[in-house]
Amino acid sequence: MTLRLAMLGPPASGKGTQASRLAERHDVPHLSTGDLLREAIAAATELGERARPFLERGELVPDDLVLEILSTRLDPTAGFVLDGFPRTVGQFEALEVPLELAVKLEIPQEESIRRITGRRVCPDGHVFHVDYDPPEEPGVCDLDGEPLHQREDDREEIVRTRWREYERLTEPLLVRLDGEGLLVRVDGTGDPDTVEQRVRRALDQG
Ligand code: AMP
Repeated sequence: MTLRLAMLGPPASGKGTQASRLAERHDVPHLSTGDLLREAIAAATELGERARPFLERGELVPDDLVLEILSTRLDPTAGFVLDGFPRTVGQFEALEVPLELAVKLEIPQEESIRRITGRRVCPDGHVFHVDYDPPEEPGVCDLDGEPLHQREDDREEIVRTRWREYERLTEPLLVRLDGEGLLVRVDGTGDPDTVEQRVRRALDQG
């Protein structure tokens, strides 16, 4: 059976970076519901238009919308690393393929704010940080030469709402996952290579 893992954690805990590394190493798809929603919004699809106000406010998108967008990409036979999904008990219960493991990346809120306010992304989702991981040429993606910008929902006041949503809706899910013996906690502070080592160690033990 291939890997069926969910990468969870508060805003800017490194979910995307770690999920992508893990997916590559295990040769399974990396599915980020945040990326899928942003793609739908950029393409101005009907679903994207319904999701847009929630992302703009930093609130979670209703479960039915997220499940709809994920179902277009999730191949139950292929294994997966889910990034930012499930985020509610309802989403977890609706998942047709059982999760093998959920990794929670833990970082303090101040660290999250520091990471987010310096974060810059390109239209294809490649991520840089003005201090911690600057591109060679400021404002330009090293990988595809596209211009970098700040995500709308990376503004500090929106990030605080995203944290409140995390505490209100995702923490109860983490309690549930823990109760089912599916949750592994990993210290998400430090550079991406250090965190990757911790994730690998946690998976070897889990
Ligand atoms: P992320 O890229 O994971 O930080 O997600 C960005 C935003 O997309 C969140 O603040 C939510 O508005 C929305 N989103 C992403 N994944 C989910 C999910 N599983 N459930 C509800 N909303 C989501």
